[in-house]
Amino acid sequence: MIALSLIPLYLVAVTLPLILAAIFGGPPRPFHQELASGLGILAFAIVLAEFVLSGRFKSVANRIGMDVTMRFHQLMARTALLFALVHPFLYQGSPSGGQRPWDPSRQLTLTTDLSALATGIAAYLLLPSLVLLSIYRTQLDYKYETWRLMHGISALLIALFLLHHTIYAGRYGAETPLTWLWVAMTAIAVGSLIYVYLIVPMKDKRQRWQVSAINRLSPRQWEVIVSPRGHSGLNYKAGQFVWLNIGHSPYSLHENPFSISSAPSSGPNVSFVIKELGDFTRSLHQVQPGTRAYLDGPYGSLTIEDRCEPGIVLVAGGVGIAPLLGIVREIRLTGDPRKVRLIYGNRTEEQILYADELADEDVTHVLTEPPQDWQGETGLIDAILLDLILPPVQVQDWLFVLCGPSAMMDTVEDYLIARGTPSGRILSERFEYD
Ligand SMILES: Cc1cc2nc3c(=O)[nH]c(=O)nc-3n(C[C@H](O)[C@H](O)[C@H](O)COP(=O)(O)OP(=O)(O)OC[C@H]3O[C@@H](n4cnc5c(N)ncnc54)[C@H](O)[C@@H]3O)c2cc1C
Repeated sequence: MIALSLIPLYLVAVTLPLILAAIFGGPPRPFHQELASGLGILAFAIVLAEFVLSGRFKSVANRIGMDVTMRFHQLMARTALLFALVHPFLYQGSPSGGQRPWDPSRQLTLTTDLSALATGIAAYLLLPSLVLLSIYRTQLDYKYETWRLMHGISALLIALFLLHHTIYAGRYGAETPLTWLWVAMTAIAVGSLIYVYLIVPMKDKRQRWQVSAINRLSPRQWEVIVSPRGHSGLNYKAGQFVWLNIGHSPYSLHENPFSISSAPSSGPNVSFVIKELGDFTRSLHQVQPGTRAYLDGPYGSLTIEDRCEPGIVLVAGGVGIAPLLGIVREIRLTGDPRKVRLIYGNRTEEQILYADELADEDVTHVLTEPPQDWQGETGLIDAILLDLILPPVQVQDWLFVLCGPSAMMDTVEDYLIARGTPSGRILSERFEYD
């Protein structure tokens, strides 16, 4: 519900320049020219809003969820690209020749001022590159941090080029109220970059942490525990996540999102369950207790605090157990009376984490490659299995909290929706944005 209130806010932000253009613009021009300007204006406004959508603002990400925010960011980037690509072609056939003294509102002619067009052309070439490099990021062989740096710099350049182009080539951008609006919106966009890369690290720097323990839990999964140094710790809710930076400067791009697997009520130490995947996670064996760490957060909306359902079904796949562990632990520590059951899928038995701790819980273990003497469920967590193990009362009335591989989450979500569980009773967190 609170998340829905952000939609009108977003719509107002991206359409405000268009509305001001309609109010303050000069006499109308042929439809195709107005459409061209309108699409250009919308594309630029969407590009600027993208900075805020990717900017780790808790008021956005904690209401909607970081995965949903990022998917919206990707969708809107494609929309802006489409509008921007069409924009210049719609001016075809319009008279050009630069600013004419008898046409100060640029009603009859298009500018041919090279500097104003050059910034537009530069942005026109950069924007598709930015979007395509993001879409094909995982297929290209460069580090995530390199991509992130390139993404930030290109986005900044596009915003500045578009600001120049809009004010100096655009008919509407030249109107004073519009000029000021574009400058203010660009300042907010650039400010959000400054916030993420300078102000947040500055704050994090004052709140140092250190790795207090690091344990191998299974061949490719680790437990990392960090302790606050000289402060009282993190104020978080069970199920949330942070950006974790181990051993680097707080200003470095070497930070990764990880769910917190500890319970807030367990004290100031914060623990994580981390699966080896790429550069950072595969180097965990080199991390020594005592190593400096920084935490940016908490973020995320995978929390059950304000929920009033009589019971909770947690569905975890692999390392997706991390945030759900935090929730189980918090429920136990606080004596929360709600019923909890956990459906925990893994490939092999050795991947099951904290089996002893979870033995006291109502857990259904599911393995795709079970050993011969396996007593639990087998196969994937799919509709057939869920029909078998979930009584109708749980499907109808309980809260579902999902975290795991995308395929598992899609299957479980589709199953629940098909069986009549309202989408508002399904909470989920995806570890991949793509
Ligand atoms: C909200 C959230 C919570 C997560 N919780 C956990 C968890 O509890 N345990 C766990 O094992 N994994 C978790 N992950 C996944 C984890 O962040 C990645 O596995 C990890 O960042 C990979 O880093 P790497 O350097 O080892 O691999 P790389 O090869 O550098 O990255 C592999 C992929 O991980 C993602 N990734 C890497 N760095 C970042 C970054 N800074 N920001 C966003 N995405 C990044 C990218 O999609 C990248 O393609 C979570 C992800 C998200 C988004």
